[in-house]
Amino acid sequence: MDVYAIPLRTRFRGITVREGLLIRGDAGWGEFCPFSDYSDAESAPWLASALEASEHGWPSPVRESVEVNATVPVVSAEKAYELVSASGCRTAKVKVADPRVSLAEDCDRVEAVRAALGPRGAVRIDANMAWDVDTAVKAIGELDRAAGGLEYAEQPCPSIEELADVRRRVGVRIAADESIRRAEDPLKVAVAGAADIAVLKVAPLGGVRRALEVAEACGLPCVVSSAVETSVGLAAGLALAGALPTLDFACGLGTMSLLTGDVCGASLSPVDGRLPVPLQAPAPDLFAAHAAAPDVRAAWEARLTRVRAHLPTL
Ligand SMILES: [Mg+2]
Repeated sequence: MDVYAIPLRTRFRGITVREGLLIRGDAGWGEFCPFSDYSDAESAPWLASALEASEHGWPSPVRESVEVNATVPVVSAEKAYELVSASGCRTAKVKVADPRVSLAEDCDRVEAVRAALGPRGAVRIDANMAWDVDTAVKAIGELDRAAGGLEYAEQPCPSIEELADVRRRVGVRIAADESIRRAEDPLKVAVAGAADIAVLKVAPLGGVRRALEVAEACGLPCVVSSAVETSVGLAAGLALAGALPTLDFACGLGTMSLLTGDVCGASLSPVDGRLPVPLQAPAPDLFAAHAAAPDVRAAWEARLTRVRAHLPTL
């Protein structure tokens, strides 16, 4: 078991360094990396996911590679154009509704992303719960015009009820992300008519098998996204994307570029907008360059022990 600490290129969720623990078992490597604000109980599915990868491995994939989207952070329109042009991706997700930026600036950025992708590309936006219903309806309308058509708008508001309201009032598909964190949430979202698309993340749902069950039960088209893991954890997301019976949208798994380094030499960075579906996680052969300091390591080992107590004993 090894603990890593890798700086992020830009601040994300208020953090500047990504930390986590790598576990080796009979089936290979797994990654345990709940964010620091997650309680021990909330972190239990993350551990179940890491243990699935390391002890049991994943179900067989039905495809060999997965299309991924470029992610456009809050940058200038010029920078957004460059980033998307260089990405090799046909789909781009634009982060919008940052409190430091106006709607007009978001529209400029979205317009530049459309120019970079061309008419056949897909532009999606992610508001990370920032809007109330009326603001969301207005903003999605303007951003849809600026983009020349949005593929979907991800999590415009915090609650499932608000998502359902927005969905009734706009002509753009709505995706639920933050509303889907526990296994039972996607069903609520589907029943409430709150979303057209479910964003699934393997670790908070408790592993690839559990996420596949959730996808089937909610009956919505799914997009698999990462939690900004190293290639060890990204491999689990790719295993899910590879095993879903249908996959109609590009996935948010091209996130290796958000970290300044990786624990794996065989890094899962997209080529021509695609990533391979691995049968197991790559080995963390570059771990030594990213080893966490002793106090960080001790804190993660203690966390692992506490979270383990929340797992059901078989
Ligand atoms: Mg999101």
